[in-house]
Amino acid sequence: MAARVTVKKSEVVERDALPTPSNRARSKRLRETLLAWYDAGHRNLPWRKSRDPYAIWISETMLQQTRVETVIPYYERFLERFPDIETLATADREDVFERWAGLGYYSRARNLHRSAKMMVEDFGASVPDTIEQLRMLPGVGRYTAGAVASIAFDKPAAVVDGNVVRVLTRLLDLRCDVSRKDVQERLWDEAGALAKGTRPGDLNQALMEFGATVCSPRSPSCESGCPMKRLCRGLRAGNVEALPNKPKKKKPRAVDAVAVWLPRGNKVLAVQRPDNGLLANLWELPGGEVPPNSEPKDHVERLIAERTGLEVSSPIHAGTVEHIFTHLKLSLHVFRCGEAPGRVKLLNYQAHKWVSKAKLNDLPQATLARKSLELLM
Ligand code: SF4
Repeated sequence: MAARVTVKKSEVVERDALPTPSNRARSKRLRETLLAWYDAGHRNLPWRKSRDPYAIWISETMLQQTRVETVIPYYERFLERFPDIETLATADREDVFERWAGLGYYSRARNLHRSAKMMVEDFGASVPDTIEQLRMLPGVGRYTAGAVASIAFDKPAAVVDGNVVRVLTRLLDLRCDVSRKDVQERLWDEAGALAKGTRPGDLNQALMEFGATVCSPRSPSCESGCPMKRLCRGLRAGNVEALPNKPKKKKPRAVDAVAVWLPRGNKVLAVQRPDNGLLANLWELPGGEVPPNSEPKDHVERLIAERTGLEVSSPIHAGTVEHIFTHLKLSLHVFRCGEAPGRVKLLNYQAHKWVSKAKLNDLPQATLARKSLELLM
């Protein structure tokens, strides 16, 4: 039966000094082995059927922080609605958000929309083909620029994502803390050396797919199908389980907030968050953060008065939903109130709507807001 290495949490003995960079011959062997593995059978993903730079750019944006399986239906629906740059550039932003709803990290949708407009205005309605120009687009960082340049335009550009970091640190037995700037640069250099040569786009996709399916975080297939094991210094040194050496994550800060179901007739009040900051432009029930160590219910009337200008009384607690963002753990206490007459005067929201219950779910909203609606419905 095929043996797999089981990764246990263990301490890495950090080496301050970076290991010797791969020489040209070693990079060549690594790239040939990876490409041969990729050619022998890679995942059949919808964006791999296209050579259209626009489709590749959309897929690479969606794949940031999101699993391949989750992205596939969103990618297909998005391209069906916005098949080219012009259609996306001239679309209503709310429409773009609606197609994105559920995929999370909405700043990506906002940046796609802005970038499409910029491509129309500055790049003749096409995706630019150099790293420098790609990085001028909102939301396009070093990774996305490298991915689009290599996959869509065959440029020898590197990509380094979480999968690539894991594969390279293991192959090199690179034990330094990967958050160090010099370590990051070394990883980009190593990835860049691999991407030099024919088929840089396939090489980059092979590297990421290899990390996702063979050199996985737990249970990498070192002894049972890894074509790189003879080249793997981490395996030889017995360090696979401890690599990559990542700094310990800080515990997210705990925050309490309230959200209030405020009806008027057969509609309910929905508010849109500001144009920047956490969950920018998304819709939710009105509310706000409560001070630490206090009773959420005690702040409902004040927060609604401050942020919507409406006077509510006797809030009834319907339940609490939780969500962990990168830096904070948010507990959202959801309340129902009776009707509150008067004009809405917003503070720290950009817009409001009175929406029927049936239409509430159609508004672009974050996972946490959806959870609060599920609780109430
Ligand atoms: S031998 Fe193991 S750690 Fe090394 S590249 Fe292969 S799967 Fe990854």
